[in-house]
Amino acid sequence: MTTPIPSPAFLDSSRPDTPDLVVPQGIVPFYLDQRPVRGRLVRPGVLTDTLLTRHDNPDVVLRLAGEALALVAALASSLKFQGSFSLQAKGDGPVSLLLADCTDSGALRFHARSDDAQVAELLATCPNPTAGQLLGKGYLAFSVDQGPDTDIHQGIVEITGESLSDMAAHYFTTSEQHACWVRLFCEKTERGWRAGALVMEKIASDGGIGTDLSTEEGDDAWETATTLATTLTAHEILDDDLSSATLLHRLFHAEGLMMGQPRALAFGCRCSRARLSGILETFTLDDLDHMAQDGTITMNCSFCNHSFHFQRGEIAGKSA
Ligand SMILES: [Zn+2]
Repeated sequence: MTTPIPSPAFLDSSRPDTPDLVVPQGIVPFYLDQRPVRGRLVRPGVLTDTLLTRHDNPDVVLRLAGEALALVAALASSLKFQGSFSLQAKGDGPVSLLLADCTDSGALRFHARSDDAQVAELLATCPNPTAGQLLGKGYLAFSVDQGPDTDIHQGIVEITGESLSDMAAHYFTTSEQHACWVRLFCEKTERGWRAGALVMEKIASDGGIGTDLSTEEGDDAWETATTLATTLTAHEILDDDLSSATLLHRLFHAEGLMMGQPRALAFGCRCSRARLSGILETFTLDDLDHMAQDGTITMNCSFCNHSFHFQRGEIAGKSA
């Protein structure tokens, strides 16, 4: 009988035991033929529940996190290069930090830091708090990271508005210099947590789709599209039994709906023993000795909540 030799922590890049879950049609891009409108319908389905239930934040915080996940999924799907799109919200409210990101290939993850006592206090006076109330005063940062040798493009705005949908639409309308429409959804349904996003942007009429339209006709077409989009209900977008094609058809069948190739979404934590052991190696011997309990150091990944255990002897640490 041979016993497998355990590989040293710094070489062990195996993924923790987290669900290997892929939702093949998580994002459906679309445009409206002969109209200056393009958009994305995001429905992570059961993946939402898998991502949210690994965290022990209160439900109102998970709900906000679900909306943030749907938003970054929509925005990452328009990346033209390899990279990731992230949203970071930092404020003085009960949720002091919310981080969500999605890679160009649809790998999603999030982390929320909330004060349970403050959340309970807010819920006592306001059972349905807005994103603005949860986050408080602070800022939102949207960033695109396209790899180690590139600059991170980051846009930072003050938290304004009630909902995350409004905050995002305001930010993109300002920074992209064209109209954007964003609606985010997240609820705990009978089948578990579900989230969704419908995001549309008004593209330039010159030289693109909608070339034949006058400015006024283009504005009218945009107006019609957003009016129709407003009729999408949470019940519809969060219903697993309705396909995305059906939903889009219901909304835009009379507006020249053209659907693109669906894109996948997946469970996207990037932690590994190798990565965390690398972090531990930057600590001093003293710190490591303090972190060890009965000879074992435990590191918890804040994105997937997986615990990694290291024998104190596995980590050399920084001498000095
Ligand atoms: Zn992780």
